[in-house]
Amino acid sequence: MEDIRVGVDLGGTKTEAVLLRVGGEVPEVLERERIATERDGGYDHVLSRVAALIARFSTRAPAASIGVGMPGGLTRAGLVKNSNTTCLNGRAFHADLRRAVGRPIAFDNDANCFALAELAFGAARGAGLAFGVILGTGVGGGVVLGGRRACTAGRTIAGEWGHVVIDPSGPACYCGRRGCVETYLCGPAIERRHAARTGQRQALAEIDDPVTLAEVAEIFGRSLAIVVNVLDPDVLVLGGGVSNLSILYDEGLRALARHVFDDEPRVCVVKNELGDSAGVFGAAMLR
Ligand SMILES: [Zn+2]
Repeated sequence: MEDIRVGVDLGGTKTEAVLLRVGGEVPEVLERERIATERDGGYDHVLSRVAALIARFSTRAPAASIGVGMPGGLTRAGLVKNSNTTCLNGRAFHADLRRAVGRPIAFDNDANCFALAELAFGAARGAGLAFGVILGTGVGGGVVLGGRRACTAGRTIAGEWGHVVIDPSGPACYCGRRGCVETYLCGPAIERRHAARTGQRQALAEIDDPVTLAEVAEIFGRSLAIVVNVLDPDVLVLGGGVSNLSILYDEGLRALARHVFDDEPRVCVVKNELGDSAGVFGAAMLR
């Protein structure tokens, strides 16, 4: 029987849906649509836009499973928290969307979707245990074991290495702590620290200052060593804008090797292969 799935990536600015046929070597995109999330329109507006998008796709494939990936987690009461589409926070978006669509829908955060997609179809293909590393405007991660995400039943903390505190006297983080990994390694933090030290405002991609880049490589290695020591994954797959910094793949790897509790580290560190498609492909893989 054909395995057709609907995947939706609900972002702060854009929301994308795919109708995907899986089971072959590569996933086949049957339909793809991108709409503006229009989060300024408020909760009911976003809910009805996403529900209408899913309805269009599920009409074409009534038997398809539906998965939605979105930033943030869930409270014990099933309310959205930590979403950058802030009008969803404190609301029962999962239940409301299921009701509006009238079908079962699986949800997970975007970092877990990234890891699922890269393991199923991308750079971590064939890995038993993979850790997806998001280095973008935020820092996050997702754990995938044997093709399935490691956290279910509403628990969404697995993989959140971005809010491990590496220096309690470090910069303030939006989460309320100080010195989280994210306050050193997210794109805006790297730009800010570079500007503070050199007086030069440069976009991440233009930064070529060896001191700034060496600091990024060192913190990258030190903080991911925590993940490797805990999980010993086969693959670390990197995504997000910061993953384009080539220094991560040489000096960053050397720093990682120095800090891991293993003098023969075997973890493989790779750049993502799916780019922007990981979000929707991973959402389609949710069950
Ligand atoms: Zn934090």
